[in-house]
Amino acid sequence: MTAAIFCKRTDPECRVKIYERMDRVGKKLLVTGNGQCNLSNIYISLEKYHGGPSDFVMQTFSVFGYQATIDFFAEIGVLTKTDQSGRIYPYSFQASSVLDALRFECERLGVQTVLGCEVTDLRRRNDGFQFTGAGRQYYADRIILCGGGRSSAQCGSNGSCYSLLRQTGHTITELFPAIVQVCAKNTNVARQLKGIKLNATASVLVNGQRLRQETGEVLFTDYGLSGPPILQLSRIISTHMSNGNTVEITLNLLPEYRIEQVKAMLVKRAAAISGRCMDQFFGGLINKRVGQVVVKGCNIPSQSHAGSLTAQDMNALCATLQNFSFVCRGTRGFANAQVTAGGAQLDQFIPATMESRSMGGLYCCGELLDVDGDCGGYNLQWAWSSGACAGKACALSFKQRF
Ligand SMILES: Cc1cc2nc3c(=O)[nH]c(=O)nc-3n(C[C@H](O)[C@H](O)[C@H](O)COP(=O)(O)OP(=O)(O)OC[C@H]3O[C@@H](n4cnc5c(N)ncnc54)[C@H](O)[C@@H]3O)c2cc1C
Repeated sequence: MTAAIFCKRTDPECRVKIYERMDRVGKKLLVTGNGQCNLSNIYISLEKYHGGPSDFVMQTFSVFGYQATIDFFAEIGVLTKTDQSGRIYPYSFQASSVLDALRFECERLGVQTVLGCEVTDLRRRNDGFQFTGAGRQYYADRIILCGGGRSSAQCGSNGSCYSLLRQTGHTITELFPAIVQVCAKNTNVARQLKGIKLNATASVLVNGQRLRQETGEVLFTDYGLSGPPILQLSRIISTHMSNGNTVEITLNLLPEYRIEQVKAMLVKRAAAISGRCMDQFFGGLINKRVGQVVVKGCNIPSQSHAGSLTAQDMNALCATLQNFSFVCRGTRGFANAQVTAGGAQLDQFIPATMESRSMGGLYCCGELLDVDGDCGGYNLQWAWSSGACAGKACALSFKQRF
């Protein structure tokens, strides 16, 4: 929709049509940001993006960055609001208002929409293109491919555009799910804690080496772990698991305290509540059920008294509180992922115009390209920026032909 809008705005003479496989356009937008649509972030920077060379992304943002996005949305009636962590939302906090605004702007400009039309075949024909959509043949002078990745196919993006890219001689890099929940091997522990949310620092250890950590609300589920820090770490987990490495998530359940402070606190606590059974020992400090699992994990009998804890028990409790460990079994896959990592290889496209280097007149934007961002509005920002650039460049190239 952004590509279509910028194409029409650049050259109102262009006839622009969106071919959409679903029964309505922009379905995925409705589920973004838990229905609130986290549409960008003020902290756009290189390290938030992964995939192909990051200068491709930055060159595109230098043409259409987050301020251009905010201005664009203001023009179509969507006022935005930034939260404390830099995430930008529509002032209404309704994803549907973002989709409506895009739809109305498409309508105003005369962009046509063909629904229920999955494009399944795309080839060069003379100076333009021939393609098949829902069994019918169509022709176009220019094509902008923007079919998204493979994640959350129920919202429309089923990965079918990768075949169209391959068919036109482009390379697709390895695809894997990102921003996705993580499955643990020791599900019996996660299952006992199912539904509990707590603030923790989650670290990813690959073959024992700590690679990245994120702090926030972790959710225990029957399959493993979820919550913002886990989603944020899932990309690195996916990558290393696909390389056959052993990947582990450890949770620091008392992230504000250093290990010696935790030790001192436990010793004091054991003295103060020495008569209390160990299954009640952590009540008031961490979630009671989590505390009971920690005690059990340290092989301390639940009915023993706090006063009988040995120095060895104390060390084991401290270590577990700071490294509550889950060995990863995998992720919840594309069906549950928010984005697809990997995609159309960037060096086959021109940054800031998004045009194919080998097939002039073919453009590609959004998640379909080998670009994925962290959680926090970075993926939609990439979709708006690359879409706007592709739309503009496509209209200009068409204009210049005459
Ligand atoms: C649950 C969830 C929450 C998310 N929350 C956020 C968030 O808050 N902030 C953020 O930045 N990102 C978020 N994302 C990621 C973000 O939604 C995507 O990165 C973004 O929508 C990608 O935009 P796109 O236009 O490239 O692809 P899509 O939005 O996936 O759109 C592609 C469209 O092309 C259509 N299509 C695909 N193949 C064909 C074909 N062959 N023929 C015809 N039509 C086709 C699809 O039906 C779809 O409508 C979230 C994703 C999910 C799943």
